[in-house]
Amino acid sequence: MLKPKKGEIRKPTKTISGVTPVAVMLPPRKCNHGACVYCPNLNVPQSYTPKSPVVMRAMEVKYDAYRQVVDRLKAFKAMNHPTEKIELIIMGGTFLEYSEKFQNKFIKSCYDGLNNSESGSLMEAQKKNESSKHRCVALCVETRPDVCSDHIKKMRKWGVTRVELGVQIIDNKIYEKVKRGHTVQDVVQATEDLKNAGFKIGYHIMLGLPGSNIKKDLELFKKLFSDSKFKPDQLKLYPCQVMPCSELEKMYWKKKYKPYSREKIEKVLIEMLKLVPKYCRVMRVMREIPPEYLVAGTIRIDLRKEIENELREKKSQLKEIRYREIGFALRDKRDINLDLDLKITKYKASKGDEYFLEIVNKDYLLFGLLRLRIVTPNQVGLKEGVSSSKEGNKKAIIREIHVYGQALKLGEKGKKLGQHSGLGKWLISEAENIVKNKNIKELSIISGIGVREYYRRLKYRLKDTYMVKKL
Ligand code: SF4
Repeated sequence: MLKPKKGEIRKPTKTISGVTPVAVMLPPRKCNHGACVYCPNLNVPQSYTPKSPVVMRAMEVKYDAYRQVVDRLKAFKAMNHPTEKIELIIMGGTFLEYSEKFQNKFIKSCYDGLNNSESGSLMEAQKKNESSKHRCVALCVETRPDVCSDHIKKMRKWGVTRVELGVQIIDNKIYEKVKRGHTVQDVVQATEDLKNAGFKIGYHIMLGLPGSNIKKDLELFKKLFSDSKFKPDQLKLYPCQVMPCSELEKMYWKKKYKPYSREKIEKVLIEMLKLVPKYCRVMRVMREIPPEYLVAGTIRIDLRKEIENELREKKSQLKEIRYREIGFALRDKRDINLDLDLKITKYKASKGDEYFLEIVNKDYLLFGLLRLRIVTPNQVGLKEGVSSSKEGNKKAIIREIHVYGQALKLGEKGKKLGQHSGLGKWLISEAENIVKNKNIKELSIISGIGVREYYRRLKYRLKDTYMVKKL
């Protein structure tokens, strides 16, 4: 690897949103339901290839979680990236289907890796991480919608704050055709339970699955945001590709399936991006598949950049979060207006009220956001998580607070924004006001282990894995 020059950050986009993502790969294990038709079977973690960078790194250390974390931190340091605020992402297969003993050990090893020392128990490792040099500010687990709700309590014990659901499409006929082994109702239930327990939710969406077409893809995509049963906070958009040793490969050679062409993918993606509302972040578009593992499909992983450049040139305004984040505007050396305002959008989702608070400038660039959920009790997730408030009949939980502070350091204008260093407090105090006005006496925050100290300074106290404040 080339050594960066003094002050240079290699691949700055990796940490441009303010946290440093550390992906930890699970050892290979088959999913319990069998295999989805498009999933490759290559003796590596399911749905990955032996040449995927994260798989190669994991194989080098025999999938040891501790060593994966330590090595990744070293690599980020060598590239001059900050390593204080870490988001751990557990990848490969369905983690929640591994044995509980394995799960607990794996998660503990991740915290041990961040702490650079071995603790006697998961609790001890987490306690250490609260004040460690590399704090876990977020922990993400990927899972299937039908393997989710029963694991909520366990996920909170591990410190999980975000769950990515393999949704792909919301159509039962297509689920059957591609052998997903779950239904749309599973998606609805998992979404509701996760939101009630305060998790941030991402959906993986697949374009061009067998049985679908452009019209159907777009209709169902629209439904993700018009139907209150879905409304994810984040999305990853992947076109269906034909990979070796998958059932789809056989279908392809028998001419029973053809993936979308590059032009079709571009067309659908542009329409999809235009439909994403302001409260949702498109985390990724396209999946990096080494060309030698692609039987048919497109390898254009930089398609998003091209599409966004085209849209910017046409002055099309996308509402989705990533497109508006301040970090990207600084990277592209755009002029930035520093008069900031707080905007609140209220919407109904999964039988609750969501308040999306965002700090923006007049060009609608995003500097910070908060997701507050208010919901009536007696729902599964709530039983598992959010503390109850006897005084009011409703409960309130902050599902996400994100200030794009780290990104500001990447650009000179960060210095000018020193006066706004309290963006997080501003967002939290507005959320507290909303909750107080509804006569709810308690506010919970789902918190990464490494952010607990910050909330303690704001008078929140640890209660059942949540940070809670009496209002
Ligand atoms: S659920 Fe995911 S990992 Fe499991 S077979 Fe399907 S695509 Fe592969």
